[in-house]
Amino acid sequence: MTPSQAAMMIPDAAVSSETALDRFGPLPRPDLAFTPQVAEATAPIYEKVKHIIPAIEWPALAPTIHAINILKKQRNAVILAHNYMTPDIFHGVADIVGDSLQLAIEATRTDADVIVQCGVHFMAETSKILSPDKTVLIPDMKAGCSLAESITAADVRGLRERNPGVPIITYVNTSADVKAECDICCTSSNALQVVESFGVDKVFLIPDKYLAANVGNKTDVEVLIWDGACEVHERFTAQELRDYRKIEPGVKIIAHPECPPEVVAEADFAGSTAHMIDWVKTRRPEKVMMITECSMADNVASETPDVDFIRPCNLCPHMKRITLNKILDSLLEMKEEVVVDPAVASRARQAVERMINLKS
Ligand code: SF4
Repeated sequence: MTPSQAAMMIPDAAVSSETALDRFGPLPRPDLAFTPQVAEATAPIYEKVKHIIPAIEWPALAPTIHAINILKKQRNAVILAHNYMTPDIFHGVADIVGDSLQLAIEATRTDADVIVQCGVHFMAETSKILSPDKTVLIPDMKAGCSLAESITAADVRGLRERNPGVPIITYVNTSADVKAECDICCTSSNALQVVESFGVDKVFLIPDKYLAANVGNKTDVEVLIWDGACEVHERFTAQELRDYRKIEPGVKIIAHPECPPEVVAEADFAGSTAHMIDWVKTRRPEKVMMITECSMADNVASETPDVDFIRPCNLCPHMKRITLNKILDSLLEMKEEVVVDPAVASRARQAVERMINLKS
């Protein structure tokens, strides 16, 4: 177990002996038969995903989707789904979809008592940081992230000691402990703006060495790196993109800035998940290849059936730990509860709020 996972699993006993299930009470396990009523209730959802989920698979998915949508009302829960969730989750049960920070910010605006975070654990922590009074659940506590696991709070303190006066910016993909040690947070959308906001000649941008290098290529500020990487995006190569261009003439290639700089250089456009989605919806290219986690292409494809998606599929094994069945169990059994030490949460929130205030 990693330090951040351990921090998240601080039992409620540290504060109270009550579990989330004690507080919210049990609910009966629903029948999961594909009845005519379930078929009728889920028909509008199937309409949204029919281009990517074969009709033969729907009877296996629909009862769980239907049950989750009933349960979340009974629990006064809001389901947050990251862009990398599979289409059954993204289009079937989510109330709010987007990137991790969008999700956490939107959740603060709801009157839900419970947040079910369909994403990885640093995202659940970010939601808890911004909504300390809500109960935050993650359907699988083992849903980690290679970037978040690449650095600890002690590592950040070491960077500060060795580099006094150099601002430390953390990408949102870090634990609450790490955010608490940093000056400000950033996303892939606003990293350049945050880097330049300090008005100094060098900053650290941690932990993604590729995001830092890609931002460094656009500014005169020296962007110092930490040796972390996203295990999904670093697998793409520039040669792979060149090969796809040969076999798919005319294809537009758009890449996430967590990819190595030579991949970004080979792409027609690079941007955050939100910017990539906007790019496809606005430009409507005949053929597109999204160089990112492959469920995102599935989710965008269902909304843009006129665009032909070429899918070089790199799945995030951590994101794929979140399934419909685990979401159902999460709501029934009120597990796994994400708890962040209030003192850490308060300092981490400052780093996130500095970024939000910068944006406005
Ligand atoms: S896709 Fe990469 S950055 Fe996102 S959760 Fe998976 S490992 Fe982390």
